[in-house]
Amino acid sequence: MARPQAKATRPVPRRAPRYIYGFGAGRTDGRADMKNLLGGKGANLAEMSKIGLPVPPGFTISTDVCTYYYAHGRNYPPGLRTNVAEALRRIEKALGRRFGDPEKPLLVSVRSGARASMPGMMDTILNLGLNDRTVEGLARESGNPRFAYDSYRRFVQMYGDVVLGLKPESKDEEDPFEVALQEKKRARGVTLDTELDADALRELVGEFKALIKMRRGVVFPEEPQEQLWGAIGAVFGSWMNQRAITYRKLNGIPEEWGTAVNVQAMVFGNMGDDSGTGVAFTRDPATGENVFYGEFLMNAQGEDVVAGIRTPLPISALKDENPAAYAELVKIRRTLEQHYREMMDIEFTIQQGKLFMLQCRVGKRTAAAAIRIAVDMVRERLISTDDALRRVEPAQLSQLLRPVFDSTETKRAFDEKRLVARGLNAGPGAATGRVAFNAEDAIERAAGGEPVILVRIETSPEDIGGMNAAQGILTARGGMTSHAALVARQMGKVCVAGCEALVIDYRARTMRIADRPEVVREGDFISIDGSTGDVYLGQIATTPSEVVRVLVDRTLDAENAPTYRLYAQLMKWADKSRRLRVRANADQPDQCANAIAFGAEGVGLCRTEHMFFGEGKIEPVREMILAGTAEERRAALAKLLPLQRADFEGIFRVMAGRPVTIRTLDPPLHEFLPHDEAGQREVASALGISYERVRERVEALHEFNPMLGFRGCRLGIMYPEITEMQARAIFEAAANVKAEGIAVEPEVMIPLVGHPKELALQTDLVRGVATAVMKETGVRFRYLVGTMIEIPRGALTADEIARIAEFFSFGTNDLTQTTLGVSRDDAGRFLVPYVADLEIYPRDPFETIDREGVGALMRIAAEKGRATAPKLKLGICGEHGGDPASVAFCHELGLDYVSCSPFRLPIARLAAARAALGA
Ligand code: ADP
Ligand code: MG
Ligand code: MG
Repeated sequence: MARPQAKATRPVPRRAPRYIYGFGAGRTDGRADMKNLLGGKGANLAEMSKIGLPVPPGFTISTDVCTYYYAHGRNYPPGLRTNVAEALRRIEKALGRRFGDPEKPLLVSVRSGARASMPGMMDTILNLGLNDRTVEGLARESGNPRFAYDSYRRFVQMYGDVVLGLKPESKDEEDPFEVALQEKKRARGVTLDTELDADALRELVGEFKALIKMRRGVVFPEEPQEQLWGAIGAVFGSWMNQRAITYRKLNGIPEEWGTAVNVQAMVFGNMGDDSGTGVAFTRDPATGENVFYGEFLMNAQGEDVVAGIRTPLPISALKDENPAAYAELVKIRRTLEQHYREMMDIEFTIQQGKLFMLQCRVGKRTAAAAIRIAVDMVRERLISTDDALRRVEPAQLSQLLRPVFDSTETKRAFDEKRLVARGLNAGPGAATGRVAFNAEDAIERAAGGEPVILVRIETSPEDIGGMNAAQGILTARGGMTSHAALVARQMGKVCVAGCEALVIDYRARTMRIADRPEVVREGDFISIDGSTGDVYLGQIATTPSEVVRVLVDRTLDAENAPTYRLYAQLMKWADKSRRLRVRANADQPDQCANAIAFGAEGVGLCRTEHMFFGEGKIEPVREMILAGTAEERRAALAKLLPLQRADFEGIFRVMAGRPVTIRTLDPPLHEFLPHDEAGQREVASALGISYERVRERVEALHEFNPMLGFRGCRLGIMYPEITEMQARAIFEAAANVKAEGIAVEPEVMIPLVGHPKELALQTDLVRGVATAVMKETGVRFRYLVGTMIEIPRGALTADEIARIAEFFSFGTNDLTQTTLGVSRDDAGRFLVPYVADLEIYPRDPFETIDREGVGALMRIAAEKGRATAPKLKLGICGEHGGDPASVAFCHELGLDYVSCSPFRLPIARLAAARAALGA
C-alpha cells in the first residue's frame, strides 16, 4: 500500500482569522453574498466597488468581531488594532491624505451594518478625524471655512449623541444639540442651517463641546485614533441598545447575528451649491411603477434628506441642478437593476459635481409595489415566475385587502372643511384614530383597545414600538424616504409624512395646523389617507379595497382595476406552483362565495353552531337544551332539521361540487343560554316553561373548565339524536342539491376525538343516517366521515383512529391549547411576556404553529395515520391555516390542504407556492 506523502499529512499553516475586508482603493475583498460576515451595507459596498461604481474606499470589520466582542466581555480580538491601522493606511495611500494630518486630513465615516437591514437602528458617525487643528487644514485646503466648520459641527453633534450619550432625557425634551442650533439661527436671524456662516458654526462647535462637558461630564476627544475607536465601540455597543433589541424582536432577527462596522473615506455633499446628497429607489416603492424615484438636497450631508431638515427636491430636479451627475445616476440605476435583478434603494453624494455611491440594498416596498415589480420584472425578462413568487411576502397581501376611506364620507369631511392639511403619501391605506404624541402614549392607548394615530414632528428609531401599536403615523417633517415612511411601509402601516402645516407641541400635547383655528389635543380623533397624503379632523368611515371590490363586492370591473389584475397574475403563478390545496373556514353561503372568489377549493371547516344563532334557530336550540327527556329533545331537533338542511343546501349550491367539511356540534351547551336572570326569564316565557327550570338547567350545565368539559363528540355521544339530526340535515341537503343537478361532496367531521371508540360510535350513527337518506330519497351521493385531531390522545392513537376516519383535519387551536395546557382566552396575561420578553416561545403559538410541541404531535398523527391508511386525506382548519410559517410547516408534513378564513386565502395560496419552491 502506498504510503501517504509526507506533504499531505503536514498540518496546513493556520492563517490568522480575517477580521477586515477592504473595498475600493485598488482591491475589494468582499461580495454581495457575504452579508453574514460583512453585513448588508458592507457586502453591497464591496459589490458596487467590484462592478466599477464610484464608491469611496473603505473597509469592513466583520460580524465575527462583534460576536467575539460580546463573547469576551466587550474586548476585541488580538491583532485587530494592527489590522485596522493597515487598512486605514491603504485608504490614506489611495487618496493621498492622512488620518489626523493637520494639512490634508483624511476624514472617515463609521457606519454600522447588520446582516438584515435595520433602517436607522444603528448609528453612523460622519466627518470623523476632525479636531481644532484638522478643521483648519480642511478649511485652508477647500478654501471654504464654512464647509469645514459645518462638517465639524455635525461631527461633534453626532459623536456627542452616539458615542458620548448626550440625548434628550425625557420623552418631552427636544434634542439638546438641535435646541442650541435653533437658538443660534434665531440669534443670527436666519432660518436655514445653510445660512449659518463659518463663525456661527465655529461658535456652535464650542457650545456643543461645552454642552457635552456639562451634561455628560466628559471632554470631547480631539485625538482622531481615540475618536475612531470610540466610534467603533459605539457601533458594536449599539447592537445591544434598547431600540435595536426592540427592532430585532419585531422582525425576528436573532441576537447572535451581530453587526459589522464600516469605515469609509468621507465625501462631502456640503461643499457648496455644486454638492449635495440624496436617496433614491430604482422604481417607485409605493406603486412599483418603473420610474426613477428619489429625493435630494443640494449643499447637504448624510441624513439631512431623511431627517427632514429641509424638504428635499424630487430626483428629476437633479437634471437641472447637475445634468452630468443626473445622467450618471440614471446609468447607475440601470446597471444596478440589471446586476441585482431587483428594485434597489440607493444613497449617493455629489461632491463638487462628482457622483459617489454610498449604499445600495434591496428596496422596501408596499404590497402593491412588490406585486407590480415582481410581475413587471418577469415581463421584462429580468426574473422568472418562481423568482416573482419569492419576491412577494405572503403576509403583505393583506395590505391589498385593506380598506380605504369611504368616498361619500370623504366628500362630506371635505365639505365640512375637515380636510386640514396634506403631506406626503408615504404608506398607503386609510386610518382613523385618536392622536398620541409619543410612542409610550401610543402603546398605552393601543393596549386599551383604542385606534391610535401617532403624531410626531419626525420619527426616530425610539418610536418603533409606538409605530407598531398605531394604526397610522403622521409626521410634520421628512420626505418619502424619511424614517417614518420607510418603517411604516415595512410594517404595512398607513403613513402621511412631511406634513409641514402641522405645528406640534410635545409638552402641551397639542397640534395646530397653519392658518387654522383648531387645536387638536391628545386623544382627539383624526383621519389620515396614506394613499393621497390627506389629513382630516375627526373620524371617517372606510370602504373596501380594489381587490375586494372586484372579487367580493363585484362593484368594480377587472378592466378598471390594475392592482387587481397584477394580483390575479401573481395568484395564477402561485396556483401553478403550489402542491397544497386551499380551503376556507366558512359557515354561510355568502362566506362561501367570498371564499371561492379568493381561490378556495373547498370548505375546510363549516361550524354548525354558528348557524344556530341565525334567525329562528336559537329558540329550538334552547328548547333542545332545556328538554327534560329524549322525546322532548327529539321534538325540538325536528324543528331545527329543516332550518339546518336549508343552510347546507345553500352552501352546497355555492360550492358546486367542491368538498365541504361540516363539523358536528362542538361548543358546550351553556353557550347557547343566557346567564343573567332577565335573559333566563325571557327564555322561560318564550318556551312556556318556568324560570326556575331554566335557571336550574343553566346551573346544571355549569362547568369549571368548559374547554375540557361536555363538548365536542361527547355531546353527540351522550345525546345521539343531536348528531343524528345534523347528519340527516347534511345528507338530505346533499340529496336535494344533487337532484337539482349540482355535484356535492359532503365530509362529516367529528370534533374532539381522543379515543377511537368515540369516533366509532359517531361514525356508525352518521353512516346509518346516510344509508337511510339515500334509500328514502333514491339519490346516491359520495360522502366521507372523518375527525378532527385536536387533542394529544387523538394524535397519539392516530393509527387506530385512521382505521375508522376517512380524513383528519388538524384543529390546531384546540391542539395548541391542549398540548401546551394553555387556555387561549386566559393566556393574555402571561403569553405576551412569554413571547415578547422571555422568548419562551419564539412566536405566539396561537398564531404560528409551535413546531417542537404541537408540530411534533401533528407529525406523529400524520405518520401513524398514513401508516394505517396510506391515502388518508390530511388537512388543517385552525387559525394557523392562514399563517405563512405554519403553511410552510403543513407543506413539509405532506398535508393535502390548509383551510383558513376567506380573507387570508391569498396569503395561504402564496405561502403554499413559496413552500413548494423552498422559498
Ligand atoms: P443608515 O444605516 O442609517 O442608513 P449610513 O451608514 O448609511 O446609515 O449613513 C448615514 C448617512 O451618512 C447616509 O446618508 C450615508 O449616505 C451618509 N454617509 C455614510 N458614509 C458616508 C461617507 N463616507 N461620505 C459621505 N456620506 C456618508
Ligand atoms: Mg444608509
Ligand atoms: Mg376544536
